[in-house]
Amino acid sequence: MSVWDDLVGQEPTIETLSRAVRDEASMTHAWLFTGPPGSGRSNAARAFAAALQCPQGGCGQCRECRTALDGTHADVKVVATEGLSIGVKLARELVQVAALRPSVGAWRVIIVEDADRLTEQACNAVLKELEEPTPRTVWMLCAPSLEDVIITIRSRSRHVRLRTPPAAAVAELLQRRDGIDGPMALYAARAAQSHIGLARRLARDAKARNRRHDIISMATRITGVGEAILAADNLSKIAEEESGAASAERDAAEKAHLLETLGADPAARTQPVHIRSQLAALEKDQKARAKRYVRDVIDRSLIDLASIYRDALVLRLGADVELVNPDAIDKVRGLATLFSAEQLLGHLDAISEARERINANVPPLLALEAMALQLRVPRNLGI
Ligand SMILES: [Zn+2]
Repeated sequence: MSVWDDLVGQEPTIETLSRAVRDEASMTHAWLFTGPPGSGRSNAARAFAAALQCPQGGCGQCRECRTALDGTHADVKVVATEGLSIGVKLARELVQVAALRPSVGAWRVIIVEDADRLTEQACNAVLKELEEPTPRTVWMLCAPSLEDVIITIRSRSRHVRLRTPPAAAVAELLQRRDGIDGPMALYAARAAQSHIGLARRLARDAKARNRRHDIISMATRITGVGEAILAADNLSKIAEEESGAASAERDAAEKAHLLETLGADPAARTQPVHIRSQLAALEKDQKARAKRYVRDVIDRSLIDLASIYRDALVLRLGADVELVNPDAIDKVRGLATLFSAEQLLGHLDAISEARERINANVPPLLALEAMALQLRVPRNLGI
């Protein structure tokens, strides 16, 4: 057993990182982990942090390894934002932590899971630290791609690129680590397009599987303007509901915790001014988090929707590539018969455009409607 066990399909990365652990000449003070969502960027960073702290270079079992992996090690700071950005205030706090010598471990490690969300000011704060690194401090920044991080940070970091693991490797992990049976693990790994976290959720949650099924079914059902508007509305509603369900309980718990910390009476009808302002700040954070969550769910839905057109294109072109949706082969065949390769590419473009627009802050419903109108089928395929 070792800390690298769960990084499936990432052999070159494991080789690079474990060499840096063994040999200080291969070590450097700033690392940039990139790779598609779900490929395990932050897991790779945590495993690396554990290996650096472990007296045996990453046994996966000792206290150093376990606490570094689960984010509780005193010298491993993990920043995982749920808001839309990481501001300068938090960045300055990190820089202060980075200046400290390790307290119990061999290194002080700062992991920023969403370095692409650092604001410009925050980047500049971090940059100063990267230019004059503290000995025994290591920054591990994670982002989807190099382009998501400003060039000055990029140029001061060693780049490690994770790849999309093969579906079979993800399925094997789900079986070994999560005890999921073989066929379900393979279905989930394929349907999630090797996104490890999503694959696990699909395998375990029948509701998530149904939602996915509803989304890919839209492809064969949008026959007119009315259906297009309805489909867009559904996509947006599914995301709002998921976000609401995920956050209601946590929002309430956070509020109760804040009131308790401030020594306020949670049953009081009105709170003193200083408490009201704290509550307002919390609500603002919670709203930003909910907004990001909705956008993430919509983005994921659009990746699912695109996968059915992608499969139809694979079939149409007779390419020797595994399908993402072999379980929905009727729909894939139907679309491949109905549309030319060019039209299917057009549909994929429409979906990409919607994703880009939502990412650029266009109201989701607007972008989804424009997209759905371009996905109309000439007749109901009845599948
Ligand atoms: Zn260990």
